[in-house]
Amino acid sequence: MNNHWQSLTSYRSPELVQQLADAINNACQGRVKIMQVCGTHTWSYRRHGLATLLTQNLSLVAGPGCPVCVTDQGDLDWIMDLAGEKQNTLVTFGDLMRVPGSNGSLAEMQSRGADIRVVLSPLKALDIALAEPSRRVILVAIGFETTAPVVAATLQHAHRLCLTNFSIVLLLKRLIPALRYLFARERPDGLLCPGHVATVVGKQAFACLPQELGIPSAIAGFEPVDMLLGLLDLAHQLKTANAKITNAYPRVVTEQGNPIARSLIEATFEPAPSQWRGLGELPTAGYGLRGALQRFGLNPAAVLLSKAANGQCLCHLVILGKHTPQACPRFRKNCTPENPLGPCMVSEEGTCAAHYYYPDLDESLEIPDTESEVTLQLPPPVTDGKLPNKK
Ligand code: SF4
Repeated sequence: MNNHWQSLTSYRSPELVQQLADAINNACQGRVKIMQVCGTHTWSYRRHGLATLLTQNLSLVAGPGCPVCVTDQGDLDWIMDLAGEKQNTLVTFGDLMRVPGSNGSLAEMQSRGADIRVVLSPLKALDIALAEPSRRVILVAIGFETTAPVVAATLQHAHRLCLTNFSIVLLLKRLIPALRYLFARERPDGLLCPGHVATVVGKQAFACLPQELGIPSAIAGFEPVDMLLGLLDLAHQLKTANAKITNAYPRVVTEQGNPIARSLIEATFEPAPSQWRGLGELPTAGYGLRGALQRFGLNPAAVLLSKAANGQCLCHLVILGKHTPQACPRFRKNCTPENPLGPCMVSEEGTCAAHYYYPDLDESLEIPDTESEVTLQLPPPVTDGKLPNKK
């Protein structure tokens, strides 16, 4: 335990952090825009105040790496329609509960009596299905390559159990095809790639980004030193005009990733079209079920997919790095973590919530007249390795 703690604190060493920040500032020539794809990077960067150490020439923008935030509004509404059917038991991760659909949230539906169960592991859905055979148990699966292996294991186990009252709303997404699609239109100067996705798929899976699109890319972990090592790699690549994929998280990420997780994914899923908030339908950026597992899949009614996104919310632009949360007229006014108008303010990987809890030093916190009273919260202290609690 002591060794683990020492290891953790070394990745937050103030001296090392300062040395790395100085090296980045020296290497950074001219203005550069780096996309931090993953919401966990956004939170870590803001929580540890890394922007205050780095040159203003370096700007970090958000990317489409928060699973709740990229879930399409039509899909959210479909989930809520399913939750409203009396025979259904909806099983979901907690981060979906407060995301606003067109007619409220799952949390509101639960308070009105809908059978919605929050779980930490998708395997729990199978326990529910076995224990309550009269219920139609529906697992809502959102997430990226990091979540896909455990969902695959759940489906394989459901198949072995021959369950007939278990189904899945399969909204998992494949990050790398979506990035290729996004950057074919408009690209940042560099890309900080998510260490947890790379842990599953391996470093080489990201090689297409520098090779095909010429984008300097670095895989990074989530402690301050991890992130700064990734940014330093990117600064060097930009300085030498040599785009490649580097691994600044070698204590976790290997060249080929996790072979067991990858083979589970391969045996269970095949690439399929997927709806992404802000990007629309992307041909291969989702997962479809293979063979006999298809019997577990539920498909949305086409009419629901045409529902418009929440017109009050700019999440579809925030997750593509085209707007900062501060550019949204509702940020801190009538959109707060207590009263979120979009998924980016709900999720623990959401960019708007990260900016809410960890404001820029020069950011005005004066609140103009609003539709609802807002109480500002001070950023929580960095002590325990956990995200701040939200009321
Ligand atoms: S501040 Fe709220 S309404 Fe604006 S983009 Fe973020 S989540 Fe959406």
